[in-house]
Amino acid sequence: MIGIIAITAIAFGCNNQKKEVVEKEVAHVFEKGNLAPSKFFTGNAYVTGLIDNDSVFTTAGGEVFFEAGARSNWHLHPSGQILIVTAGVGYHQIIGQPIEIINKGDVVKCPPDTLHWHGASKDASMSHIYLVPNTEHGIVEWEDAVTEEEYLSANKVDFDEYHKEKQ
Ligand code: MN
Repeated sequence: MIGIIAITAIAFGCNNQKKEVVEKEVAHVFEKGNLAPSKFFTGNAYVTGLIDNDSVFTTAGGEVFFEAGARSNWHLHPSGQILIVTAGVGYHQIIGQPIEIINKGDVVKCPPDTLHWHGASKDASMSHIYLVPNTEHGIVEWEDAVTEEEYLSANKVDFDEYHKEKQ
Protein backbone atom coordinates (compact mmCIF):
# COMPACT_ATOMS: atom_id res chain seq x y z
CA MET A 1 0.00 0.00 0.00
CA ILE A 2 1.30 3.36 -0.94
CA GLY A 3 0.60 6.21 1.36
CA ILE A 4 0.42 9.70 0.08
CA ILE A 5 1.46 12.47 2.36
CA ALA A 6 0.35 15.89 1.41
CA ILE A 7 2.36 18.70 2.79
CA THR A 8 0.84 22.12 2.70
CA ALA A 9 3.11 25.05 3.08
CA ILE A 10 1.57 28.27 4.20
CA ALA A 11 3.55 31.39 3.58
CA PHE A 12 2.83 34.45 5.61
CA GLY A 13 3.45 37.76 3.94
CA CYS A 14 5.65 40.21 5.72
CA ASN A 15 3.97 43.48 6.53
CA ASN A 16 6.38 46.16 7.61
CA GLN A 17 3.90 49.01 7.53
CA LYS A 18 3.69 50.65 10.92
CA LYS A 19 0.28 51.10 12.43
CA GLU A 20 -0.42 54.34 14.25
CA VAL A 21 -1.65 52.52 17.32
CA VAL A 22 0.60 49.69 18.39
CA GLU A 23 -1.40 46.99 20.08
CA LYS A 24 0.25 43.96 21.61
CA GLU A 25 -0.35 40.83 19.58
CA VAL A 26 -2.37 38.18 21.36
CA ALA A 27 -3.18 34.65 20.13
CA HIS A 28 -6.86 33.85 20.73
CA VAL A 29 -8.41 30.36 20.90
CA PHE A 30 -11.62 31.21 19.03
CA GLU A 31 -12.28 33.51 16.11
CA LYS A 32 -14.12 36.73 16.82
CA GLY A 33 -17.84 35.96 17.21
CA ASN A 34 -20.75 38.36 16.85
CA LEU A 35 -20.24 42.03 17.70
CA ALA A 36 -21.74 42.66 21.14
CA PRO A 37 -24.39 45.40 21.40
CA SER A 38 -22.97 48.88 22.07
CA LYS A 39 -25.61 49.61 24.70
CA PHE A 40 -23.97 46.98 26.93
CA PHE A 41 -20.30 47.31 25.87
CA THR A 42 -17.79 50.13 25.31
CA GLY A 43 -15.48 49.50 22.34
CA ASN A 44 -15.59 46.32 20.30
CA ALA A 45 -16.38 43.05 22.02
CA TYR A 46 -17.33 39.86 20.18
CA VAL A 47 -19.35 36.97 21.62
CA THR A 48 -19.09 33.31 20.60
CA GLY A 49 -21.86 31.16 22.08
CA LEU A 50 -20.53 27.77 23.24
CA ILE A 51 -23.01 26.34 25.75
CA ASP A 52 -26.71 26.83 25.04
CA ASN A 53 -28.79 27.27 28.14
CA ASP A 54 -31.18 24.35 28.73
CA SER A 55 -33.31 22.90 31.54
CA VAL A 56 -30.91 20.01 32.26
CA PHE A 57 -27.70 21.95 32.84
CA THR A 58 -29.20 25.42 33.54
CA THR A 59 -25.84 26.87 32.51
CA ALA A 60 -25.02 29.34 29.76
CA GLY A 61 -21.52 29.75 28.42
CA GLY A 62 -19.40 31.19 25.67
CA GLU A 63 -16.37 33.31 24.97
CA VAL A 64 -16.03 37.07 24.72
CA PHE A 65 -13.19 38.62 22.73
CA PHE A 66 -12.49 42.20 23.86
CA GLU A 67 -10.32 44.44 21.71
CA ALA A 68 -7.84 46.57 23.69
CA GLY A 69 -9.78 49.19 25.66
CA ALA A 70 -13.13 47.41 25.25
CA ARG A 71 -15.16 46.45 28.32
CA SER A 72 -18.62 45.48 29.48
CA ASN A 73 -21.00 47.85 31.24
CA TRP A 74 -21.47 47.41 34.96
CA HIS A 75 -23.75 44.39 35.42
CA LEU A 76 -24.65 41.55 37.74
CA HIS A 77 -25.55 37.88 37.46
CA PRO A 78 -28.24 36.61 39.89
CA SER A 79 -26.32 33.35 40.49
CA GLY A 80 -22.84 34.66 39.77
CA GLN A 81 -20.43 33.91 36.94
CA ILE A 82 -17.12 32.16 36.38
CA LEU A 83 -14.58 33.61 33.92
CA ILE A 84 -11.64 31.66 32.49
CA VAL A 85 -9.18 33.93 30.71
CA THR A 86 -8.08 32.28 27.47
CA ALA A 87 -5.92 35.03 25.96
CA GLY A 88 -4.31 38.37 26.64
CA VAL A 89 -4.52 40.76 29.57
CA GLY A 90 -7.67 42.27 31.00
CA TYR A 91 -9.32 43.94 33.94
CA HIS A 92 -12.07 42.80 36.26
CA GLN A 93 -13.63 44.93 38.97
CA ILE A 94 -16.21 44.24 41.65
CA ILE A 95 -17.93 47.41 42.83
CA GLY A 96 -16.11 49.04 45.73
CA GLN A 97 -12.94 47.04 45.14
CA PRO A 98 -9.77 47.81 43.15
CA ILE A 99 -9.46 46.67 39.56
CA GLU A 100 -7.96 43.21 39.32
CA ILE A 101 -5.57 42.57 36.42
CA ILE A 102 -6.39 39.23 34.79
CA ASN A 103 -4.10 37.22 32.55
CA LYS A 104 -4.43 34.17 30.32
CA GLY A 105 -5.09 31.14 32.52
CA ASP A 106 -6.69 33.05 35.38
CA VAL A 107 -10.04 31.94 36.78
CA VAL A 108 -12.29 34.61 38.29
CA LYS A 109 -15.47 34.05 40.29
CA CYS A 110 -17.97 36.92 40.23
CA PRO A 111 -20.27 36.46 43.26
CA PRO A 112 -24.07 36.35 42.85
CA ASP A 113 -25.99 39.64 42.68
CA THR A 114 -22.79 41.70 42.73
CA LEU A 115 -22.17 44.62 40.38
CA HIS A 116 -18.97 44.22 38.39
CA TRP A 117 -17.44 44.68 34.94
CA HIS A 118 -14.78 42.97 32.87
CA GLY A 119 -12.84 43.78 29.73
CA ALA A 120 -9.51 44.10 27.98
CA SER A 121 -6.58 46.10 29.27
CA LYS A 122 -5.80 49.35 27.54
CA ASP A 123 -2.81 47.92 25.64
CA ALA A 124 -3.78 44.33 24.85
CA SER A 125 -6.89 42.45 23.82
CA MET A 126 -8.34 39.80 26.11
CA SER A 127 -10.64 36.82 25.68
CA HIS A 128 -12.38 34.90 28.40
CA ILE A 129 -14.80 32.02 28.58
CA TYR A 130 -17.82 32.80 30.74
CA LEU A 131 -20.04 30.34 32.56
CA VAL A 132 -23.34 31.44 34.11
CA PRO A 133 -24.80 28.73 36.38
CA ASN A 134 -28.36 28.36 37.72
CA THR A 135 -29.88 30.30 34.86
CA GLU A 136 -33.36 29.62 36.26
CA HIS A 137 -32.61 32.65 38.48
CA GLY A 138 -31.67 34.83 35.50
CA ILE A 139 -28.52 35.43 33.47
CA VAL A 140 -27.55 39.11 33.51
CA GLU A 141 -28.89 42.52 34.54
CA TRP A 142 -27.20 45.49 32.86
CA GLU A 143 -26.34 48.85 34.39
CA ASP A 144 -24.38 51.93 33.24
CA ALA A 145 -21.27 51.97 31.06
CA VAL A 146 -17.84 52.00 32.72
CA THR A 147 -16.53 55.55 32.24
CA GLU A 148 -12.99 56.36 31.06
CA GLU A 149 -12.25 57.66 34.55
CA GLU A 150 -13.42 54.42 36.15
CA TYR A 151 -11.58 52.38 33.54
CA LEU A 152 -8.25 54.13 33.93
CA SER A 153 -7.96 55.77 37.29
CA ALA A 154 -10.65 55.02 39.84
CA ASN A 155 -8.65 52.25 41.38
CA LYS A 156 -5.31 53.84 42.20
CA VAL A 157 -3.58 51.16 40.12
CA ASP A 158 -0.71 52.62 38.13
CA PHE A 159 -1.40 50.84 34.87
CA ASP A 160 1.54 52.41 33.05
CA GLU A 161 3.97 51.12 35.67
CA TYR A 162 2.26 47.72 35.69
CA HIS A 163 2.43 47.34 31.93
CA LYS A 164 6.05 48.56 31.84
CA GLU A 165 7.01 45.86 34.36
CA LYS A 166 5.32 43.22 32.22
CA GLN A 167 7.29 44.14 29.08
MN1 MN B 1 -20.03 39.35 34.33
